Amino acid sequence: MNEDTKDTVAEAVVAEAKPEVAPEVKAEEPKKAEEPKVAKARGLTEDQLIAEYPQVIKNTLHFIETEEKQAVKITCGTEGCKNTREVRTSDLWQVKLCDTCTIKARRERSKAKRAARKAAKV
Ligand SMILES: [Zn+2]
Repeated sequence: MNEDTKDTVAEAVVAEAKPEVAPEVKAEEPKKAEEPKVAKARGLTEDQLIAEYPQVIKNTLHFIETEEKQAVKITCGTEGCKNTREVRTSDLWQVKLCDTCTIKARRERSKAKRAARKAAKV
C-alpha cells in the first residue's frame, strides 16, 4: 500500500491568509483659518470698498490665485443694464461698466474723436 502525502501539502498553500487591508485613513486637512476679507493692496475691507465704489457687489470679494490679486464683482453703471463684471480691486477706480457697455462707450468715444478731428480739418 502507498501512502499519499500530497494532499496535506496542497492544503497548506490554500490556507495562506490574506492580510486585511486597512481602509486608508485620510488625514483631515487642517482647516485654514478664515482670513478676513481685506483688499491687500490698500488694506480696505469689502465694506470700505463699497463705500468708495458703490458699484461693488457685497460678498463678492475674492482672491485670484493665478494673479495674486483680489477682485470683486460690480454691477454695470449704465442705467438699465443689469450686467455684472469681475474687476480687480486695483482697477475699481477706472472700471464702472460691464464689458459690453465699456466697448460701446469706447466706440462712441472714438467716434466722437473722429468727428472732432474731421471738424478741425475743415
Ligand atoms: Zn452694462
